[in-house]
Amino acid sequence: MDFTLPAWIDDIRARIAGFVEEELLPLEADPAAWDAHGNIAEAPLERMRAKARDAGLWTLQLPLPDGRHIGRVGMAACYEEMNRSVFGPVVFNSAAPDDGNMMVLDQLATPAQRQRWLDPIAAGQVRSAFAMTEPHPGGGSDPSMIRTRAERLGDTYVVHGRKWFITGAEGAAHFILIARTSDDPSRGLSAFLFHRDQPGWRILRRIGIMGPEEHGGHCELEFDGLEIPAGNMILEEGRGMKVTQTRLGPARLTHCMRWLGLAKRCVEVAQDYADRREGFGVRLADRESIQLMLGELGASIETGRLLVMKAAWEQDQGRYGRAEVSMAKIHVANLLHRAADVAIQINGARGYSTDTVLEWVYRYARQARLVDGADEVHRMVLNREMASNGRGFWSWEVAG
Ligand SMILES: Cc1cc2nc3c(=O)[nH]c(=O)nc-3n(C[C@H](O)[C@H](O)[C@H](O)COP(=O)(O)OP(=O)(O)OC[C@H]3O[C@@H](n4cnc5c(N)ncnc54)[C@H](O)[C@@H]3O)c2cc1C
Repeated sequence: MDFTLPAWIDDIRARIAGFVEEELLPLEADPAAWDAHGNIAEAPLERMRAKARDAGLWTLQLPLPDGRHIGRVGMAACYEEMNRSVFGPVVFNSAAPDDGNMMVLDQLATPAQRQRWLDPIAAGQVRSAFAMTEPHPGGGSDPSMIRTRAERLGDTYVVHGRKWFITGAEGAAHFILIARTSDDPSRGLSAFLFHRDQPGWRILRRIGIMGPEEHGGHCELEFDGLEIPAGNMILEEGRGMKVTQTRLGPARLTHCMRWLGLAKRCVEVAQDYADRREGFGVRLADRESIQLMLGELGASIETGRLLVMKAAWEQDQGRYGRAEVSMAKIHVANLLHRAADVAIQINGARGYSTDTVLEWVYRYARQARLVDGADEVHRMVLNREMASNGRGFWSWEVAG
């Protein structure tokens, strides 16, 4: 394992860092730049996206215009820089769920599907959503419980069912849908593409949540006869789990990459206050209790970075890195929650206010332990891998 960054990738990373410092942090500090859902408003977003595109800092999860690819290790370094600002990922077209949708389409879509469904997302012309989770008694943590059905009628599939918590659905034009096409236990699910303007489905509601929202919110959808041509299936019938695994592994990992950027931002805000604030004749930064809090966060962030880099490296070798992704996801999701909590504590009442970004991160962080697999599900996966690989679970990669 070698996490050394090639100089050209470090150049991209450094340019992202500069863009965040010069453009996004000042914008984030301007209340007029926010929308009603705790995200960057559409007008400044479009302005910033144009600048990011002109700077060549755009859709870095796909091959660059010159054909080079920064790979997952390169993405780890770049995504962390992007999310020093809460506006970062969406400005660079690397926010969930478009990020994961683009990566899976890049990997699995046919050339015709890429042109129709991927290229407009990559160009920033449309947004997308990934519709898998269902309300009780449908599929959530356990995809074998998915009930939304797609019945084949000639060259068309007709969809009936319900989904919820579909991020971005209100603003999305392109949807990836996971639906049941048979009761086969391993090949019962299939993945489809559909467009917002097709009839036979609707948004029942935008679900209220405790945290800030991605553009388009988190929605509950109903399908009552949506017709999808067979040509809009990703891979073949029955390969929905393969599509899901291909999408969720990298998407979980890029969540972790972004969350590390947010965790580092929390430390930054805490250090800034601790350096300036005095009480009982002592600067906060000179108190050992504060130093221990920050030191513990520093070690935990670096542990997260190493777990993320190892999983990214696994994926760059063409593997899923399932155990590595699960370890990174559990660690970084909990770290983000703790980083926001500790930073709020160090900032006192200021930390609880909307004067800093900490309360935003704290509300957002709670979802990290649920989305793309709850902590407990990832622990279950890890236990399964340990049980099936025995002592081999702990092996090192050997050169050659
Ligand atoms: C903000 C947000 C955005 C989301 N965006 C999307 C999206 O865009 N598309 C989409 O399809 N879904 C999305 N989801 C849904 C998310 O992926 C699911 O919430 C997650 O997979 C868990 O499913 P569930 O909510 O049905 O929980 P359930 O399956 O009902 O589980 C509830 C709880 O039970 C426990 N549990 C479950 N399984 C086990 C186990 N094996 N062992 C021990 N304990 C267990 C866990 O604590 C879990 O939190 C989003 C969710 C949130 C909160």
